[in-house]
Amino acid sequence: MPVLRDGEIDIGYRVPSVASLRGKRIAVVGLGALGSPAAVELARNGCTSLHLMDDDVVEPGNAIRWELGASSWGTKKTDTLKRFIEREYPWTSVLAVPHRIGLPTCDPHTPGDTDRLNELLDSVDLVVDASAAPGVTYLLGDICRERGLPLISVFASPNLHGGAVVFHHPESGCPVCRAHANETPEGKSGHIPYPNGMNDESTLVQPPGCSELTFTGASFDLKELSLETVRMAVDVVSSPDEWTVSEVRTVNLHNGKRRVPPNWRIDPLDRHPDCGCRS
Ligand SMILES: [Zn+2]
Repeated sequence: MPVLRDGEIDIGYRVPSVASLRGKRIAVVGLGALGSPAAVELARNGCTSLHLMDDDVVEPGNAIRWELGASSWGTKKTDTLKRFIEREYPWTSVLAVPHRIGLPTCDPHTPGDTDRLNELLDSVDLVVDASAAPGVTYLLGDICRERGLPLISVFASPNLHGGAVVFHHPESGCPVCRAHANETPEGKSGHIPYPNGMNDESTLVQPPGCSELTFTGASFDLKELSLETVRMAVDVVSSPDEWTVSEVRTVNLHNGKRRVPPNWRIDPLDRHPDCGCRS
């Protein structure tokens, strides 16, 4: 039976540690195998408002790694998640922003990246980047730094032997600083190691009819990353004063021969001396 407070369903009564999501507005960019479960989990745990950006359509081929099943095939990811979340978790409202960052358009009436991102980021408390696209991550890093917004970026290695969940404070290490920390100019491993398999693209496949290579990882491995993203998001909005230094959480899920229990390490991410975010 729901517990009411001020006439609203009070999720935090049963799980006090997530009560901080009440009243919070979180943007999620990228609603694939990492972003879609993270969005649903944030709603389930009481987030008041989600702003969701993606322009992709759910297909039978990619549904094996997607949060919802056959009922969503053929629909836009933003629209179907909005319908699902607002029906199943009515304490959460969803702003659907169907848009692909960086896609050029010849139509002067189609809103561009700036307009769409302004809409997406209006009054948000936190931005979650699940785009798995380095260019989008760097752009969001710049925008969040300018706006003073915390950013959480999540990505997996191509063969899904590992991944990372990275917190970026607007005045600490940015996504480009993270790239500097992962790799030296000579291409050698930096002081924060890449997740296992980060440079191994041998397991990527090109499905029939698809213009791009896609990875072959399973949803139950990716869930490890999306759940860590939500855990971090809850803690960041709960105690923002304790999150003043960027942080890289790296997980290895496979040792090259077989799956291993998730193995996490945590590294602080300071600003890199050569990164433009210092200026
Ligand atoms: Zn930087």
